[in-house]
Amino acid sequence: MTWHVLGAGSLGGLWAARLARAGQPVRLLLRNPQRLAQYHAAGGLTLEENGVRQILPLSAEAITDSAPIHRLLLASKAYDAATAARALHARLAPGAEVILLQNGLGSQDQVASLLPQARCIFASSTEGAFRRGDFHVVHAGAGHTWLGTVPPSPAPEWLGELAQAGIAASWTADILGRLWRKLALNCAINPLTVLYHCRNGGLQAHGEEVAALCAELVALLLACGQADAAVDLQAEVERVIAATAANYSSMYQDVAAGRRTEIGYLLGHACHEAAQRQLALPRLQALEQRLRAHLGARGLPQD
Ligand code: NAP
Repeated sequence: MTWHVLGAGSLGGLWAARLARAGQPVRLLLRNPQRLAQYHAAGGLTLEENGVRQILPLSAEAITDSAPIHRLLLASKAYDAATAARALHARLAPGAEVILLQNGLGSQDQVASLLPQARCIFASSTEGAFRRGDFHVVHAGAGHTWLGTVPPSPAPEWLGELAQAGIAASWTADILGRLWRKLALNCAINPLTVLYHCRNGGLQAHGEEVAALCAELVALLLACGQADAAVDLQAEVERVIAATAANYSSMYQDVAAGRRTEIGYLLGHACHEAAQRQLALPRLQALEQRLRAHLGARGLPQD
């Protein structure tokens, strides 16, 4: 079964390269024929790990091709996932499996409603990768990927193929809990690092503000039926801040590089869910307004 990978970006490129190196059939899906020509001109996908560069001439096609797709890894940013799903709708075979690598929440439901013929598998990954240039991926830090469906279902047979390819992954019956927990950690840390223009460790000087945000995030998680994801949230936030003190958050890096953030699927999703439940979370809502204003002032999308 061919792994079609939409998005030869950081995470999609990493998965594609690893699967291909393990002998799995992989095809990259690029956004248009121009992008495909650029890929061929680059000679393939470069993966850089531990300072070693390897060029992998993976096969690739434009998403506008017509061959049916049975297994898709959707590796775009959250804000591009619905557009990509619409573009691939006609190519997805009935019963096709679609693995959604997007961070945050909201995009998964958008894609699932656009692709009713597919089995959508949600993923939450702590893998670290970035793009040094077009079709050049750097693996920056080993992590783990949790996979699962809503409602829960048995693990697919190909889970073992991931392990053989060096992709650390586990199946979970509570993928929503995993995604909510990661979203809450993100909401407590990333926006403040942007607003205070600091590394994660810089938030140790804003402990009271972080604690107040955690209290509101716990209230939101409980209101959303995510009690497990709320357990000891503040303690974990503080642990993450300490353990990653020297790092810049992904949102900080996006803003610094003038890239669109995934705010709409992280803090924006949290505030939207609170509003849906008429839950007053003044700190979180004020944080969202400050962050949106900050992005707007830099000419970046506020959604
Ligand atoms: P990325 O490097 O920006 O890659 C996204 C890729 O999607 C790009 O190659 C882009 O193509 C492609 N794409 C977007 N729309 C497309 C379309 N319509 N047709 C074809 N290709 C399309 O993003 P990323 O860092 O891999 O992140 C992907 C998701 O994983 C995000 O939700 C992120 O939060 C999550 N995540 C990332 C990491 C990480 O370390 N990078 C870790 C955990 C979670 P172009 O190159 O043509 O623009």
